[in-house]
Amino acid sequence: MEAAVRRAGRRREEITLVAVTKMFPASTVRTAYEAGLREFGENYVREFEGKRPELADLAGARFHLIGHLQSNKAQRAAGLFDVIQTVDSPKLARRLSQAAQREIEVMLEVKLGGEEAKSGARPEDLPALMETLASCPGLRLTGLMTMPPWSEAAEESRPYFRALRELAVRHGLAGLSMGMSHDLEVAIEEGATHVRVGSAIFGPRRQP
Ligand SMILES: *Cc1c(COP(=O)(O)O)cnc(C)c1O
Repeated sequence: MEAAVRRAGRRREEITLVAVTKMFPASTVRTAYEAGLREFGENYVREFEGKRPELADLAGARFHLIGHLQSNKAQRAAGLFDVIQTVDSPKLARRLSQAAQREIEVMLEVKLGGEEAKSGARPEDLPALMETLASCPGLRLTGLMTMPPWSEAAEESRPYFRALRELAVRHGLAGLSMGMSHDLEVAIEEGATHVRVGSAIFGPRRQP
């Protein structure tokens, strides 16, 4: 991160490291917290429901949902997470708003990889989605999130990261959640404000 920040002429404080702890036990989250990390990413509502009670004492820790969220799980997710990065439909936004007991930060997940991507809103759907969010009490929209089609080569992600930044600028949004273990440097060069890093911190994980 430091190297990419320097190359890009940015400041380290502009970028939040979200430590992705999916498929690791609560004890791993605790160890990372003790090492100074405060922002954590999880993919599955049910898995995090199991870990959350063990983490209740981690003052200042914030938990991001970075996996796809079905609207029938919106209520449970609203009670568990501080940030939901994967809002991709008006229906999901309304359900989260109805369930929000305190302010939840949200990001809109954008599908830039064409048809093979399963989740995420299409870029052309963003205006309607933003309009819905403007009338959703309890939700604060802070930015866009994307996951490019998988490739070993980090450079392959660059056009998607650039496209996400252009969309965010066009829609007046400051947050950009993009970049994972293998392509976080490219993402930082392209303006990421949040990188979601799992295996580069914690090593390989079990498959779900
Ligand atoms: C698992 C996951 C990550 C982290 O992936 P790594 O390659 O382990 O860094 C980031 N973002 C999303 C959406 C994920 O599902």
